[in-house]
Amino acid sequence: MLSELWDKAAKVTQAAYESKALLSYQASVETVTEAGLTFYIRTLENLGEKQSPTFTKTDQNSLEASVKRNPFLEHDSELFVTNIGPNHKCLLNKYNVLDQHLLLVTQQFELQISVLHQQDFNALHECLSAAPALAFYNGGKTAGASQQHKHIQLIKAPDSINQLVGLNPQLEMLNDEVPRELETLPFKHAALALPAGLFDPNKSEDEAKDAAIQLKHLYDRLRMTLGLDCFTDSEHSEQLPAYNLLLTQKWMLVVPRSSESYAGISLNALAFSGSILVKNKDQAEEVKKAGISKILQSVSL
Ligand code: AMP
Repeated sequence: MLSELWDKAAKVTQAAYESKALLSYQASVETVTEAGLTFYIRTLENLGEKQSPTFTKTDQNSLEASVKRNPFLEHDSELFVTNIGPNHKCLLNKYNVLDQHLLLVTQQFELQISVLHQQDFNALHECLSAAPALAFYNGGKTAGASQQHKHIQLIKAPDSINQLVGLNPQLEMLNDEVPRELETLPFKHAALALPAGLFDPNKSEDEAKDAAIQLKHLYDRLRMTLGLDCFTDSEHSEQLPAYNLLLTQKWMLVVPRSSESYAGISLNALAFSGSILVKNKDQAEEVKKAGISKILQSVSL
């Protein structure tokens, strides 16, 4: 199954394209360099024709309402790629901007703001062992999530991952599993290098299980470093403050969030990989004028 994930995703994509279940956005890409950092500004070209829930955020504070309107619980069958382990399924992102964009969704409803569990890391480890990819998680509305049902996202890496992850060269400078704040990155964060071979696809079942346990341990270490501790309230359990998690096969990064947007421009985990998505040319100009580094700093804690 492992090696087939992305082949299967490509086949489902082709069929979903033809049936119009998949509603991709076109975006132009501009490369911007700031103090040696590479950023990509992606400007949507056909936003007027389709409306994604990502851009029509409504107040989804009510848990009941979100379960009712939940597109992940009873998913669109044409977007289904495969089940991953006993608790997760992979769906195509219906409104994708980037190619080969999967959602790793829990089969039962779980809140997006709840802490990631070992089961989530088992599934994530399986997906990241299939091929190099960028995985990310928008932990809560303030971190850019538009759906309350727990979903980790994966984008398959092109041959050169730097073309997808502008800040990859800085993050690949990490060389151990000690959480650090890189001086080169302009926002609050903690990051570490993942052990070599963690996603080796030839691991036995037991070895893969151990690797997933290690992955969760490193996630816990990063969030503890940033003081992102679980808390509970009367309605929900084990919530976390807003944060973004990003990882490749080589590194893991956690960014605590103070706000969801800058001047009306929403920023999710992808922004901290170096990719800024804007709705139109005016917003692209605004981003360049303000400076991307400054924007990222202003929305991290
Ligand atoms: P986020 O905005 O980070 O919460 O990610 C949720 C993603 O789900 C967005 O990127 C949407 O494009 C995507 N999405 C919304 N509705 C559906 C749906 N019915 N099926 C699959 N993906 C969806």
